[in-house]
Formats: sequence, C-alpha cells, structure tokens
Amino acid sequence: MLLPRSTDVFVIGGGPAGLAVAIAARRRGFDVTVADGSVPPIDKACGEGIMPDGLEAARSLDLQLETVEAQRFRGIRFCEGGASVEAAFPRGFGLGLRRTTLHQIMVDRAAEAGVRLLWGTRVTGISKDGVNARDRLVRARWIVGADGGQSPVRRWAGLDACARESRRFGFRRHYAVERWSDFMELHWGEGCQLYITPIGAHEICIVLIGRNPRMRLDDALPQFPDVVRRLAGAANRSAPPERGGVSASRRLEAVYRGNVALVGDASGSVDAITGEGLCLLFQQAVALAEALAAGDLARYQAAHRRIGRRPEFMADLMLLLDSRRGLRRRAIHALARHPALFARMLAMHIGEISPTDFLTNSLALGWHMLTI
Ligand SMILES: Cc1cc2nc3c(=O)[nH]c(=O)nc-3n(C[C@H](O)[C@H](O)[C@H](O)COP(=O)(O)OP(=O)(O)OC[C@H]3O[C@@H](n4cnc5c(N)ncnc54)[C@H](O)[C@@H]3O)c2cc1C
Repeated sequence: MLLPRSTDVFVIGGGPAGLAVAIAARRRGFDVTVADGSVPPIDKACGEGIMPDGLEAARSLDLQLETVEAQRFRGIRFCEGGASVEAAFPRGFGLGLRRTTLHQIMVDRAAEAGVRLLWGTRVTGISKDGVNARDRLVRARWIVGADGGQSPVRRWAGLDACARESRRFGFRRHYAVERWSDFMELHWGEGCQLYITPIGAHEICIVLIGRNPRMRLDDALPQFPDVVRRLAGAANRSAPPERGGVSASRRLEAVYRGNVALVGDASGSVDAITGEGLCLLFQQAVALAEALAAGDLARYQAAHRRIGRRPEFMADLMLLLDSRRGLRRRAIHALARHPALFARMLAMHIGEISPTDFLTNSLALGWHMLTI
C-alpha cells in the first residue's frame, strides 16, 4: 500500500496494541495509518492465554476471538511440589489462542474497519509534524508508539524515564498432546515457573519464565516431573524449537508527550506471569481513542494509570511468591486447604472483586498460613 501524504493518527507498530488502537480510533472517525516493519501474521513468544477480562475488553473492540482453533479454559490451577489448588473464574472463561491466529484476526478486523495498513514498513524517526518512513515524512496530527517493549518511539519522544523496571525471560514451545486439563496451569519451580495453556484440542503452549536468560525449557523440565510424564510421547511442534522474549515489569513516569502517546508494551508492562498483557492493551486502546477524540492526552495518562493498578499489584504478589520459596510453599498449601480463598484471589485478579474484599481475603490467608 502507498504511503499517504498525511493522516490523522499514525500508529507505529502493528502488533496487538497498534491494531487495537487503530480499530478504536477508526471507530471514532479518525483516518488511521499503521506501519510495521514485519509482515503478518506476526508471531511472538507468548503464553497465548487471554483471561475473561481480556476477552471482555476485546469484545468492546468488536473482536470475536473465539474461533474454531481457540480453546476455552475455565480457571487457573497452581501446582507446587505435590500440592495443587484450582479455581474456576467467577464468570466467563479464558481462551487459549495461537498468537499468529490472534494477529490475523486483528489484521482482518482493522482492514474491515478501513485502517490503512503498511506492512514491511519500518519507521525511522518522528518529529512534531509527523513520521519518517520509506525516506519520506508523513504528516500526522497524532502519533502512537505501539512498537513493543524496546520501543524506539519511547526514546525518540523522551519518555524513557521509568518509575520502576525489572526483567525476566520467557521461552515458549508448542506440544502436540491431548489437553489434560480445562484449567490454565501455573507450575512453580526454583527461580522459574511453567505456565501451560491449552490452545487446541490436541495442542498446548508451555512458557518457561524466570530470571536466568540462559535457562531453557529442557533445563527446567526435570524440576516438573508431573509435566514431563504428561509430555512423554508428545511431539514438539515448534520450529525453531523455542521462541524467547523479555518479560518486563515497567512503569513509565509518563505515557505521552505533546502529540505522541505510547500504548501496549511500549507504554510499560506487567510480568508475563499475570497473563494480563493483552487485556491491558485492549483496555488502553479504548481509553486512548477516547482521549484522542477529546483532544486531551492527559485523560489517557490518568486512565492508563488506573488500568495498570490491579495487574501491577497482582504481578508484585506473584513475584514475591517467585522469590520466597518458604512463603510460596506455605501459601499454596494454605490455599489448597482453603480453595475458597484461592477463588477470591482469582476473582480479584480478573477484576471481579474489590481491593478491599481482597485485603480481607489476604488477612484470612495470612491467618491460615500461620496455622498450618
Ligand atoms: C514470554 C511471554 C509470555 C506472555 N504471555 C502472555 C499471555 O499468556 N497472555 C497475555 O495476555 N499476555 C502475555 N504476554 C504479554 C503480551 O505478549 C504483550 O503484552 C503483547 O505482545 C504486547 O503487544 P504490543 O503490540 O504492545 O507489542 P509487540 O507485540 O511487541 O508489537 C510491537 C510491533 O512493533 C513493530 N515495530 C517495532 N519497531 C518498529 C518500527 N521502528 N517501525 C515499525 N514497526 C515497528 C514490531 O515489528 C512489532 O510487530 C507475554 C509476554 C511474554 C514475553
């Protein structure tokens, strides 16, 4: 597709965040252009699970993600040593969906909505007048940086200052195996976790996540004999065998400056263990389009902070369990004996109960941990 001379909104990056903003901004009547250096469907290391609140946010963009390939899961199971605890979502279901399928659905939806899509087009710079691509300036009223965790736009706009930042490393692999559970499973090990999402009737996605960038799934699997037993005889479907990525916990001091706004991982992120990355960016996209329509990016900044608060809190809690083995064991054993507490934690995770209810729940959990 040809580069336009000008556009209302120029979105840099056509991953899930860029496409979500483009769809939301088109619905507000803007002329929207998206440019991405890659060509769809774009793959990425991802656990490929979308929580019920993420699906709800996707629906608000008219994204129907429940395709024939997608697999529902009805809750979360934590496994630690011999103990496990599970809970169903208080309402709705989660969805396991290959990243490439998700991307293709979003590309099709954006094209239908009338978004101008420029694939294989890397943006090389921005100025207050617009965006540089293919050695030309495209004039733009608004510029959106949806260019991922390493965001060049964030740097160009001088928005790199972080209120907090830490990193872990994730590696994803697909296995052709009968799904053994209708829960998304999180297996806790030493300095790492495995999370397992059903993504087809006969396929699962496993992500290893930890602080050691050199540790791969094959190094970690011996810590998880139950998983190894289930995988015996399964074919590894990935080619290349593993896809890796950085899972950053990053909160920026600001997510906009002048006419430039950041969205998705470019605008900060929570650890992948929460499974909330896609939910966050769908919600941010809706808030950003609303702010663009109002001509007031300060509104977006406030909404962005509000949207991130709960997932950040949950990520902190999970990372505390990651770093404190004794605490984790006691917590999971206490939850296994009192699964109703775990159900309330899960409800908080997906925004179904208030932080006050959660606090009461946490006090109860603390009490049970002291008494086991
Ligand atoms: C290991 C791991 C597991 C995860 N698991 C889950 C999960 O189970 N559930 C969940 O909800 N979230 C999960 N996440 C988080 C989720 O994957 C991210 O939040 C999401 O991919 C962010 O999307 P994005 O569009 O912001 O960025 P990206 O998907 O990174 O897209 C950025 C795009 O920008 C393009 N780009 C970059 N620079 C330029 C440029 N100069 N010009 C043009 N284009 C450019 C890139 O080509 C890319 O397509 C996981 C993350 C990791 C690391």
